[in-house]
Amino acid sequence: MSKELVFGHQNPDTDAIVAAKAYSYLMNHTGYDTEAVALGEPNSETAFVLNYFDEPTPRVIKEASSEVDSVMLVDHNEFQQSVSDIEKLTVTHVVDHHRISNFQTTQPLFYHAEPVGCTSTILTNLFDQAKVEIPAQLAGLMLSAIISDTLLLKSPTTTEKDRIAVKTLAEIADIDYEKYGIEMLKAGTNTDAKSDKELIDSDAKSFNLGGKNIRIDQINVVDFDDILKRKSDILAAMKQEADEENYDLFLVLITNVLNSDSKMFVLGEPAEAVEKAFNKKIADSTLELPGVVSRKKQVVPQLTDALD
Ligand code: MN
Ligand code: MN
Repeated sequence: MSKELVFGHQNPDTDAIVAAKAYSYLMNHTGYDTEAVALGEPNSETAFVLNYFDEPTPRVIKEASSEVDSVMLVDHNEFQQSVSDIEKLTVTHVVDHHRISNFQTTQPLFYHAEPVGCTSTILTNLFDQAKVEIPAQLAGLMLSAIISDTLLLKSPTTTEKDRIAVKTLAEIADIDYEKYGIEMLKAGTNTDAKSDKELIDSDAKSFNLGGKNIRIDQINVVDFDDILKRKSDILAAMKQEADEENYDLFLVLITNVLNSDSKMFVLGEPAEAVEKAFNKKIADSTLELPGVVSRKKQVVPQLTDALD
């Protein structure tokens, strides 16, 4: 069997990088020849995780068709979030926990989707089904991915399966996950070290909703003031990028990971659709979104309905 690459989405978060590593490990133990790669450099949270568990950073690729014919996708499926030359490749496997959109193949494939909090939760169960043991180091990584995606099991995306996986993985990795989890989430919120452009790029995803080209970024903080004090500069950076990349709407969700609230910077049109989606008025380019923490569950579906 020829070699395949396994990767998560562009602007990778901890789950995108970890799920690729975990799925590659599992597939290599069940007869495949795969390599986990990434579609971007690890963010500061993921860098903390890789360093904590002494794991190498995966190779970063920009395109894949020059080295392989087939690929496996984790933590995403939408082509505009995938590798740049995805149309030239055969997708043989997908493991994901997002909506399915802008995804089609010419060949039959393995596609495993579950509406759970994290790809690494699905993978924990796939290891169990395949009777492949999860090494302690990898368990630590997968635990980190679930903590990251579910904000320590507090996000509304969290399911019973995520809670069970966290307990299983914490046991294998021999870690106090609550103590470690707060340390890890804080490591991902060092916004002072990032430029305005880095802040609006690092966790951004593109969506086509109701025919509109929409960019949605998320910035995790432990103090809103870290971002609010830079608001005019960040809005200017959003405007510049929206002009360059032809985004109709650019939304930046700023999430306080300690108390599970968000604010959103809104740039572009139709702004009324954003107000309708959240039933809130935009004041000074900002929406107050108490209790909102999940882009996939509390932002994208609401915007999709409002733009319809
Ligand atoms: Mn992700
Ligand atoms: Mn994920």
